[in-house]
Amino acid sequence: MQDSFNKRKEKILEFNKTLEELNLRKRAENTRPREIPDDLVCKCPKCMKFIIKDELILNEKVCPYCGYHYRLTSKERIISLLDLGYKELYTDLREKYTDFPGYEDKLNAAKNETNEDESILCVLGKIDGIKVLVGIMDSHFMMGSMGSVCGERVTRLFEDGKRLNLPVIIFTTSGGARMQEGVISLFQMAKTSSAIAKYKEKGLYVAVLTDPTTGGVSASFASLADITISEPKALIGFAGKRVIEKTIKEVLPPDFQTAEFQLEKGFLDMIVERKELKKTLSLILRLHNYN
Ligand SMILES: [Zn+2]
Repeated sequence: MQDSFNKRKEKILEFNKTLEELNLRKRAENTRPREIPDDLVCKCPKCMKFIIKDELILNEKVCPYCGYHYRLTSKERIISLLDLGYKELYTDLREKYTDFPGYEDKLNAAKNETNEDESILCVLGKIDGIKVLVGIMDSHFMMGSMGSVCGERVTRLFEDGKRLNLPVIIFTTSGGARMQEGVISLFQMAKTSSAIAKYKEKGLYVAVLTDPTTGGVSASFASLADITISEPKALIGFAGKRVIEKTIKEVLPPDFQTAEFQLEKGFLDMIVERKELKKTLSLILRLHNYN
């Protein structure tokens, strides 16, 4: 098993070397090399280099050249983070407030595209053998927007965490509250915040902010953790940069709302690369006497 994995990896690396040489020649033209089939490679949106898709997946969707962290689906996050075997929670919840024109169609389209039923997946699983409740948002599902089901799932996660004396970890990625649910979506900010306050009397809550964490999610449960971590270069903020610039009539620094900027300003505790995340979370849990 290990042998075939190594052989495969070797082959990819060799292929990538060739690809890199091609890149050097082709980058000036900024076109995809014709020799490489479309479904085998993708282009890093940050450094514009071509990457073999297999290599990107082996590298947990982090660009091997510039370290750009691609957005993960919730299932990909589970594979990267949890031990084998987990249980999905609160799967019986369905959106009730679907009167807004076109909302139901959008919901159904998102479900078909992502194979998920909401913007957050909650599971009971283990990290290095430590039992943990995990919520994982998915930006591919209506831009990770928070509606009533998302809010209810987050709330239940903390209620169960308190009842079962388990740590809670949430991976956030969101464009904010789900506008199609109007004020109901805004209620979720207060609801989740209140559940967290009760949980934190004795439980440990770790938030991992991934690209992008904005709007109502950043203004509620993403900002209320005991320990707040982020992946490198993630966008973290409330309103968009352009909106703020227009409002305050000032030019903001180029790194405004990046994870690095937020770390410097004290909003984050640390920035952790994806490949180090499992190890870091496991260490944090052990340090807090969960095992
Ligand atoms: Zn790159």
